[in-house]
Amino acid sequence: MPRDPALAPSLRAEHRTGAERWSHLDLILMSTPSLTAFTLPVRDLVHRAGEMRERALDVAAPEAMGDGLVSVKEGADVHLDVRLEALHDGILVSGDVSTDATGVCGRCLTDITLPVEVEFQELFAYTADDAYDYSVHDDHVDLEPVVRDAVVLSLPFQPVCQPDCPGLDPVTGERLADVPDRKPQEVLDPRWAALQGLLAQDPEAEATGDGAEREKR
Ligand SMILES: [Zn+2]
Repeated sequence: MPRDPALAPSLRAEHRTGAERWSHLDLILMSTPSLTAFTLPVRDLVHRAGEMRERALDVAAPEAMGDGLVSVKEGADVHLDVRLEALHDGILVSGDVSTDATGVCGRCLTDITLPVEVEFQELFAYTADDAYDYSVHDDHVDLEPVVRDAVVLSLPFQPVCQPDCPGLDPVTGERLADVPDRKPQEVLDPRWAALQGLLAQDPEAEATGDGAEREKR
């Protein structure tokens, strides 16, 4: 959420002058994007090109990330290892995110938990500039949208409980991975039972009638 960059320096200058302190602090709080657990102070790095520091933090996801079959749920533990480097244009933030996504297998609907390991790198410019998506606000960087984008893009569109998950039995709805002896193709869909009867009466059709032929009808 962009704020008026011209506002911040004057507010910072004025709120130190005593009587008006609280009202200006209130203004700052109202005009500052809500501080999240992913907001890091970088005052010690701003305009000090060459300075660098690393930080590890564990936070609870303030809201869910992703809306597919698996997602990182609100409150999930998110571990971040970040490196903050002061450059001439801004603060370069490189990070590793690790967390767990939970949801269901796209084939058999079993509950699954998938580890999420993803990296990101983003420059937070000192001044709001169209060339950069993010900027430093009030000597802070908010990593929440960066972490969110990285995590959401890494989530599988069709998550599976195991690479060869055979899915569900089309008749009984059983999870076929739980009944490995069952061959799904041996289960006759009752909708084809009548056709099967016709094929059985026609020796030629029986000889050439493969599965694809039956499905076309
Ligand atoms: Zn599955």
